[in-house]
Amino acid sequence: MSDVLKSAAKLAEAVRSGETSAADALAASSSLIADRDDEIHAFLHLTTERAQAQAAAVDAKIAAGEDAGPLAGVPIALKDNMCTRGAPTTCSSKILDGWHPPYDATVVDRLEAAGAIVVGKTNLDEFAMGSSTENSAFGPTRNPLDTSRVPGGSSGGSAAAVAAGYVPLSLGSDTGGSIRQPAALCGVVGVKPTYGAVSRYGLIAFASSLDQIGPFAHTVEDAALCFDVVSGHDRLDATSIPEPLAPTLTNLHDGVDGMRIGIIDELMGDGIEPDVRRRTEQAAEALAAAGAIVDTVSVPATIYGLAAYYLIAPAEASSNLARYDGVRYGQRVDGANVATMNTNTRSAGFGDEVKRRIMLGTYALSSGYYDAYYGKAQRVRTLISNEFAAAYENFDLLLSPTSPSTAFELGAKSDPMSLYMCDVCTIPSNLAGHPAMSVPFGVGDDGLPVGVQVLAPMLQEPRMFRAAQVLENAAASGGAA
Ligand code: GLN
Repeated sequence: MSDVLKSAAKLAEAVRSGETSAADALAASSSLIADRDDEIHAFLHLTTERAQAQAAAVDAKIAAGEDAGPLAGVPIALKDNMCTRGAPTTCSSKILDGWHPPYDATVVDRLEAAGAIVVGKTNLDEFAMGSSTENSAFGPTRNPLDTSRVPGGSSGGSAAAVAAGYVPLSLGSDTGGSIRQPAALCGVVGVKPTYGAVSRYGLIAFASSLDQIGPFAHTVEDAALCFDVVSGHDRLDATSIPEPLAPTLTNLHDGVDGMRIGIIDELMGDGIEPDVRRRTEQAAEALAAAGAIVDTVSVPATIYGLAAYYLIAPAEASSNLARYDGVRYGQRVDGANVATMNTNTRSAGFGDEVKRRIMLGTYALSSGYYDAYYGKAQRVRTLISNEFAAAYENFDLLLSPTSPSTAFELGAKSDPMSLYMCDVCTIPSNLAGHPAMSVPFGVGDDGLPVGVQVLAPMLQEPRMFRAAQVLENAAASGGAA
């Protein structure tokens, strides 16, 4: 990996001080992508012209003695479900092939205002539905640490772009685990913020009550830096939290002395690989060694999260995806009348998993079944929120594995259910709207990275990042050996 691209914080400092330039950082990133991305396929499109113009603007600001921002000259990759003006935004779906949004997502505006350089758009499972990035209409992404394995999903391209060292930062979206699970499988940090902390304006909707944008990085510090840049109120998103958010960088190194941390009992049992469980226990020991008071805690409804999610998320998706009708966006396959044109377009444009979700969601919402499926799932969602609230009366943070296993082989999980199971530990936080993040903590029996999940109450990102920093330090000093 080119050294300059290892740390966003250090790179921005070097660019601001004139030690290196934004143009040089971009050139280093572009050459790494050119060398290796034919094999990894983290990117669907590069935004080279825009990146060069932005890098030149950053360098000009610095030459003029102006402040070029906290991410000055830092190359960043965006999951291809975030709108970028004039550049393709496909959601890895044929139905949006050729569509160029007329506006930028709020996160793009904020990143560029902070001096970051958007280098390209990354691969994902179609419409963010999946856990391996194998559901992309444009071919899978490979895990840079072992190319026979998946990078996780659905933000697999963004996780791989950081893990491959192309960029120090990327953004993904997380509806049920799509930032944290690929972060775990690729050995990088991944953050799912509090619902409403980061604007969803310009994020193409999958399940609007669950979707959140968040960063991938090599270090907890870089993830905190990026989160502080992209988060905060946006009047263009009605679900954006209006209050100012506490910065996460300020107290990042304050440690966990005296914090009460609970290991979620139900997420440490059956279905979790023993090596992953062992690393999670070691992570808990590392937190205890740093002064935290660690205990186990029961949050029984978490095990129903998966079932509730696979009704709520498809229900919302079936509504959100109704807009792809061959009229307003992207592809059209003609037919004798409008209804046939709609059918032809959607039959040709959507992949199998997307169709499966639309059918599941339509069924769950249909009259006669609504109460038994969608209504019941919403009650489970409330139950999970209530149980988390009860757990947080006694604990400041919770801990669990991020993913039940390390990265698996491409093609190894072909039935939908086995892929759905990948999100058993991550889904509960989405349902509750709480923040959670994955931190690399050692490797599994196969030598591939294990991620440990730190969960926090609503808006307690600063506390969550502090614990994550302790885990990163412990892993670096042999605590995960
Ligand atoms: N893997 C989950 C799904 O397929 C979560 C996806 C996500 O978080 N976008 O729905």
